[in-house]
Amino acid sequence: MSPVLEIRDLSVDYGSLRAVHDVSLTLEAGEVLGLAGESGSGKSTLAYAATRLLQPPGRVPSGEVRFKGHDLLALTEKQLRALRWSEIAIVFQGAMNALNPVISVGAQIDDVLRAHRPGLTRQERTNRGRELLSLVGIPIDRLSAYPHQLSGGMRQRVMIAMALALEPEIVIMDEPTTALDVVVQRQILGQMMRLRETLGFSIIFITHDISLLVEFSDRIAIMYGGRVVEEAPAAEIYRAAKHPYSQGLLGSFPALRGPRRELRGIPGSPPDLRSMPTGCPFHPRCPQAMDVCGERMPSLDSVDERRRVACWLEEVHV
Ligand code: SF4
Ligand code: MG
Repeated sequence: MSPVLEIRDLSVDYGSLRAVHDVSLTLEAGEVLGLAGESGSGKSTLAYAATRLLQPPGRVPSGEVRFKGHDLLALTEKQLRALRWSEIAIVFQGAMNALNPVISVGAQIDDVLRAHRPGLTRQERTNRGRELLSLVGIPIDRLSAYPHQLSGGMRQRVMIAMALALEPEIVIMDEPTTALDVVVQRQILGQMMRLRETLGFSIIFITHDISLLVEFSDRIAIMYGGRVVEEAPAAEIYRAAKHPYSQGLLGSFPALRGPRRELRGIPGSPPDLRSMPTGCPFHPRCPQAMDVCGERMPSLDSVDERRRVACWLEEVHV
């Protein structure tokens, strides 16, 4: 695999507050990279900043992002417009409510194609619209339906069809199914992963629900207080998460496979950006905190070829 997106030492500020600290991550071609963490951990901010979708007052003071060899952070607005949607598309949680209520879904798909693929004839656009709806499992006679005539799950599928309309290289899914019931969530995510295999795009999948990431991603980066605290293949995280925060997150969601675990949750609340704890930002909540944890920040180091962990527990016995 070769990287589609390479993020190096990326930081993001909101005014004087640092929301993301020196994150380095790589998205391989065809891969699903999961970003996990409680709300406020910086996972959406990171993904949006890395793909130049960050809205002001968010700002990137330092770092580098390479997309297929281009320096993304150096692109002009005009170059970016060409890239958005056609190379990097996004499906977010409220997307299904972003459809225009007075325009049929077919016409909305047609608008995207007309704006970005001016060479297509009307007939070609209609055919492509039908093809896109079938891709996401919607009967093509629904092309003339208005959003209110579709269920929430169907509307979110339409948004996915629109995200895929221009065959992007990267699809960012930010809590894409959080508002939907569990069965519909799993259907949509399963379908998305199959489409990724047939169409060959890569996915950055952001959700607070780590059980979904374990099932649907290849690799997971777990964020806390704006930093990556553990990164490993999804199966490794599920089998044996090493960072106490990762273990806490896994204990907070029902397991999809294997024996039923008791749900524990993580005591305390995520850190406030305005007053980050000294040392390891997780130390006030960590059941395994030691003296050093409150004093010095552990760095994110490789513990083996496929895993990086930022925790003093990994350092003491080496
Ligand atoms: Fe817990 Fe210390 Fe590891 Fe932080 S560094 S997660 S406080 S053991
Ligand atoms: Mg978010």
